[in-house]
Amino acid sequence: MSRITGVRGMNDISPTESATWHFVEATAREVLRCYGYREMRPPLVERTELFRRSVGEATDIVEKEMYTFADRNGDSLSLRPECTASCVRAAVEHGWLRAGGQRIWTIGPMFRYERPQKGRYRQFHQLDVEALGFSGPDVDAELILICARLFARLGLGRLRLQLNSLGSRSSQARYRDALVRYFAHHRDRLDEDSERRLATNPLRILDSKDPAMQELIDCAPRITDFLDDESAAHLQGLTDMLDRAGTSWTLNARLVRGLDYYTGPVFEWQTEELGAQNAVCGGGRYDHLIEDIGGSGAPATGFAMGLERIVALLEQQSLAPPPPCPDAYLVAVGGEAQREAHRLAETLRDRVDSLSLTVDAAGGSFRTKLKRADRSGARYALILGDAEVRDARVGVKALRDESEQRSMRQSALAEFLRG
Ligand code: ATP
Ligand code: MG
Repeated sequence: MSRITGVRGMNDISPTESATWHFVEATAREVLRCYGYREMRPPLVERTELFRRSVGEATDIVEKEMYTFADRNGDSLSLRPECTASCVRAAVEHGWLRAGGQRIWTIGPMFRYERPQKGRYRQFHQLDVEALGFSGPDVDAELILICARLFARLGLGRLRLQLNSLGSRSSQARYRDALVRYFAHHRDRLDEDSERRLATNPLRILDSKDPAMQELIDCAPRITDFLDDESAAHLQGLTDMLDRAGTSWTLNARLVRGLDYYTGPVFEWQTEELGAQNAVCGGGRYDHLIEDIGGSGAPATGFAMGLERIVALLEQQSLAPPPPCPDAYLVAVGGEAQREAHRLAETLRDRVDSLSLTVDAAGGSFRTKLKRADRSGARYALILGDAEVRDARVGVKALRDESEQRSMRQSALAEFLRG
């Protein structure tokens, strides 16, 4: 029969790699606990309308990257391409904001039909952190400091923070007019994508990855020259707090982010170590989204971190933890010993907190079984023969040093393994 393969751009995380994922997830969980954020878990599927209205009709994500399908009722649903919209939808739907501001996070897979390449997949994972109902720059600063602390706890250095402000909707509108005038004047130098965006979403042109467009983009008007006083003061408040907290940043007036809902400060954490896929985390303020999806107006801010890229950085910098090994590996030789193995193993698991004990399961000679014990990475092989069963004893062989094999009473084994 022909072999069925996985879907292009959707990866398996192997038993060897999962230790690194656990490390990232556990560290994130702990850091977020330190800041008083609580986990929520929205579904993977939402009404397509949610993303049209939040991410925006004229974005790459909604135009060409969503996995959209009709369910058996004929409703248009989509696999989530990002998670902010779901968090906001849930908060509005369940009235969470009535209790005041909400600090929430969630983690899981997102789906975008992009061209798969290193660091860019069709199913990928994000850590998503959202602070709903807070208007001040202090919460924007808090989110950035969460990122910085998480990177530090993971051991990741050399990540650069880029900041910009997209301003209020009215300053965005004035900026958009200036951009359209500028790019229309240079229409002959626009690539096909940018030509189209000029009519639908001119800010997106700044996001173009086409090298031939870079010079034109570099000379375009800067959004920071169009900020209204309030947006400028908000950005100033944020950078001041970052300076006081010792987090360095650079202003990048070209940073526009790929989703329509941002207003005010936006940021991206970038690396020089992953080639073209240089963004590991992006976020910003979205003060109108809650209202846009039908809630009563409230400000909000958040970020999403790409976990494949974090895992890749950890591996590249040799910071990935080794896959876990069992503490002990139980080898049973002989019929009675094999029948007895699980009883002994269960007793040990009862008595020794967090003991990791593998019970040998495939056949073969004693030698083969011992080889498997060694390959498991366990510290000890526990050897149970019929004679040991009869005498309530067990052989203990240290696998990571040269010490002699010894025989021990089964009743003393728990104490020994605890030590
Ligand atoms: P990029 O510019 O790399 O396309 P983006 O601006 O589209 O990123 P966001 O939508 O803001 O990214 O998502 C936040 C983070 O999620 C990104 O910084 C990146 O680390 C990660 N990410 C986004 N798309 C993918 C993908 N297709 N595969 C893997 N990670 C991704
Ligand atoms: Mg993208």
